[in-house]
Amino acid sequence: MPDIAANLAGVRAAIKAAAEKAGRDPSAVRLIAVSKTHPAEAVRAALAAGQRVFGENRVQEAEAKYPALKAGFPELELHLIGPLQTNKVKKALQLFDAIQTVDRPALAEALAKELAKAPKPLALYIEVNTGEEPQKAGVAPADADAFIRRCRDELGLPIVGLMCIPPADEEPSLHFALLKKIAARNGLARLSMGMSADYGVAVQFGATEVRVGTAIFGARPAA
Ligand SMILES: *Cc1c(COP(=O)(O)O)cnc(C)c1O
Repeated sequence: MPDIAANLAGVRAAIKAAAEKAGRDPSAVRLIAVSKTHPAEAVRAALAAGQRVFGENRVQEAEAKYPALKAGFPELELHLIGPLQTNKVKKALQLFDAIQTVDRPALAEALAKELAKAPKPLALYIEVNTGEEPQKAGVAPADADAFIRRCRDELGLPIVGLMCIPPADEEPSLHFALLKKIAARNGLARLSMGMSADYGVAVQFGATEVRVGTAIFGARPAA
């Protein structure tokens, strides 16, 4: 297993440096440790190093790993950062404290319906497909304002911010700037953007959550 405590310290230091360079308060940036594909043992090492916020991209994997970890660390906060099928909404709401991938009306409606039955503290992010990539989830930038209004104002969902995954082969800063602009004009405070390769840039562009996996837990097995 890689030295997860040392990796976490390195990532935290880089976030602090990027925030200070941009004139931002480093404590305004939250680090989400993305533990997908890594065993519970790796998450425990991160917990021992003080990390409390984690991200997983699949409901089933989170269900296998996290209830036992949460039992030992009630303050552990778990974010869903992968696509959510409507038939898994109920399960996802039981497992996750935040869902970053609200990306279509059917999912928004299913979340509203389930939350009406079983209310709970929750943070939701709308995923924006800033690169308009056909294979990627997320609402198109041109449709974002209307979708935010639908989710927040009509369905009453607890939307706190926006999330994006820029195209792999493009300069990410343009995408981070676009996400920030859409959030600002809709009065949304939180921006989940930046991964292992670009979280420093994301912090400079205003990220309030960075989602970092590889730089903390090491490489994942090829899919
Ligand atoms: C896997 C994943 C990450 C973490 O990626 P790394 O490059 O390993 O840091 C961040 N965000 C999402 C949505 C992911 O699926």
